Amino acid sequence: MQSIPFNKPFIAGKELYYIAQAVLSHSRISGDGPFTKKCQDWLEQTLGTPKALLTHSCTAALEMSALLCDIQPGDEVIMPSFTFVSTANAFVLRGGVPVFVDIRPDTLNMDETLITQALTSRTKAIVPVHYAGSACEMDTIMDIARNHNLRVIEDAAQGLLSTHQNKYLGTVGDLGCLSFHETKNIISGEGGALIINDPELIERAEMIWEKGTNRKKFFRGEVDKYTWVDIGSSYLPSDITAAFLYAQLEMAEKIISVRRKLLKMYMQNLQPLAEHGLIRLPSQSLQSCCNGHIMYIIVRSLKERTDLINRLNQKCIKAVFHYVPLHSSFMGTKVCRIAGSMDNTEALSDRVLRLPMFYEMTFKQVSCVTDAIAEFYRCF
Ligand SMILES: *Cc1c(COP(=O)(O)O)cnc(C)c1O
Repeated sequence: MQSIPFNKPFIAGKELYYIAQAVLSHSRISGDGPFTKKCQDWLEQTLGTPKALLTHSCTAALEMSALLCDIQPGDEVIMPSFTFVSTANAFVLRGGVPVFVDIRPDTLNMDETLITQALTSRTKAIVPVHYAGSACEMDTIMDIARNHNLRVIEDAAQGLLSTHQNKYLGTVGDLGCLSFHETKNIISGEGGALIINDPELIERAEMIWEKGTNRKKFFRGEVDKYTWVDIGSSYLPSDITAAFLYAQLEMAEKIISVRRKLLKMYMQNLQPLAEHGLIRLPSQSLQSCCNGHIMYIIVRSLKERTDLINRLNQKCIKAVFHYVPLHSSFMGTKVCRIAGSMDNTEALSDRVLRLPMFYEMTFKQVSCVTDAIAEFYRCF
């Protein structure tokens, strides 16, 4: 039986060619080199944002955001508990306190109607996470942020080229964080980018990126000495990583259109099971505006999910779940706070099942997965 992996990193084709070019014909392979510039230009032009800085991960972009928003010990940052650890960790590193609000059952994104009740005099920022590349309710979130003078940092790790009312995810808030980790749609092994939509933050972002120095300004000839001016760290990837990434970005539209087709086929094949109330499918918005990052279904119970994963495993199909809600994790209970009930987060994180999804997946493989799921439910 042919096995179907959960993910398979896709190599676009020109990665090694560009890496060779970076190594052989360009004089520099450290950060901020020619390929870094090409990638940043691509992101700025494609997404329509004033500034993009490549980072070595989305985690690093989130950490830069916490520095840029001046998060101080005790400052509160509102976010969902249903997310990856980095969303919270970046702020905890500054002494910040993640404050969790529950998620919406339709998109599994933070429930924007719960943000206001979570506000206190210590609230500094809101971090919407666009789960599966499906947009959070950004209009409401931006309104609340404006009314209360809060920063908005989009965790768009999964959201490259997904849209929200004709704007790309990551370009709506003050800052947006992207990931190019090998599990994402567009990859460079490890990698990420900080999207800076508020022009007032650009200059400081460049200094934090370059170890707290004014190196960028020095290279532009704006200052005559290069020196330590702020806190910062080394957040730039080497130009070798950027060379790899550039080959992927050139193919980004194609990669995403293929993943969208796979997602559509999954949804069509699974529709009958959804109509019988056996499983729940992602909302239609996931199909229309989304980048096909994740195909998930929601089953009826934790036990059913475990049984289904085992059944798929027997057929050599790898399906996985996530996340352990952060509020119930070891660190979450120590350094975070919940605002209101976590009922949806708890119930849904037990019932979400992610299905195989990768660029080279064939329609036949999608059918193989959906047939196996249908067969599982026929045996009930
Ligand atoms: C993948 C992911 C991250 C972390 O990305 P890295 O590039 O691995 O640091 C953060 N948040 C979310 C929602 C993610 O899916």
